[in-house]
Amino acid sequence: MSIRGALALAPPSTTIAASSFNRALSVVADRWSMQILRDSFAGVRRFEQFRTCSGAPRATLADRLKGLVDRGVLERVRYRNAPPRYEYRLSAQGTDLFGATLLLLGWEQLWMPPGAARQPLRHKACGHLMSPELICSLCGQPVTFENTEYEILRMHGKARLPAPLRRRLSSPSKKATDGVTRRSLIELADLIADRWSLLVLCAGFLGLRRYDDIQDAVGIATNILAHRLMQLVEHGMCSRRQYSEHPPRYEYHLTEKGRDLFPVAFMLMQWGDRWLVPGHGGNLRVRHKECGSLVRGVVSCGRCGEPLSAHEVNVPVSAAQIR
Ligand SMILES: [Zn+2]
Ligand SMILES: [Zn+2]
Repeated sequence: MSIRGALALAPPSTTIAASSFNRALSVVADRWSMQILRDSFAGVRRFEQFRTCSGAPRATLADRLKGLVDRGVLERVRYRNAPPRYEYRLSAQGTDLFGATLLLLGWEQLWMPPGAARQPLRHKACGHLMSPELICSLCGQPVTFENTEYEILRMHGKARLPAPLRRRLSSPSKKATDGVTRRSLIELADLIADRWSLLVLCAGFLGLRRYDDIQDAVGIATNILAHRLMQLVEHGMCSRRQYSEHPPRYEYHLTEKGRDLFPVAFMLMQWGDRWLVPGHGGNLRVRHKECGSLVRGVVSCGRCGEPLSAHEVNVPVSAAQIR
């Protein structure tokens, strides 16, 4: 089944909940985990360094590092015997998250509110400041929300869904003296690292705009959905448009800022297909309208067009942006 543009055909219930995207989010969707990942690509390996870079409380950092080790993203390696000391290195599975991490950094460069420290990305090989781009490995053309469509496969057997996260969005202190900017940055960082927000955006990527359709595809509680939609509107990722007066009903349309997260979501889904659903791939496939093929995405330098791998880009450490 191909959707988007054919909205009469709603995707089967919990399509998004059962997707590799959701599986990937069950591993990385949390602001601290995403910061650890980014700092790992910046070359950070040791607990105290992670603490300095991310500003994470000690117990939170220990919890997230353990989670990423348990899920195969990081490896805990002893680097000294007496006394025993450990560091955290990206596994092959973790290193494969480079594309998604880099695209998210590129998105932040473009869309972080004024007042955020801009941390430009430089491609070491060509020497240029650049934005990363998602490219179709078959035809070499960019892959975007606009030039893709989905196919939904029915999975055989019952899909085993990842356990829901209990983490909540944090409520930044209202006492922060630098006020609105810092609060808004933390909120945004939380929002784009939040599993439910990203799943709701994913519903938008599938072309779903109405509350009940989103709820059905994501499998989300109504109060959580209402809250996340409100935040997505507040941060300019969706706009709310009334489509019925009696009773008043609204649709949620992705804005350019929201649509620009599509490449990040795609790379996370591809990662989930590769590492978290061994043997069968996921229930969502993305077709590139430019060439008609199922997309296998690579992330390339927006200046020279060469594919990018870890160590070829100067990834800035995480929290400098928010402090
Ligand atoms: Zn293509
Ligand atoms: Zn380049």
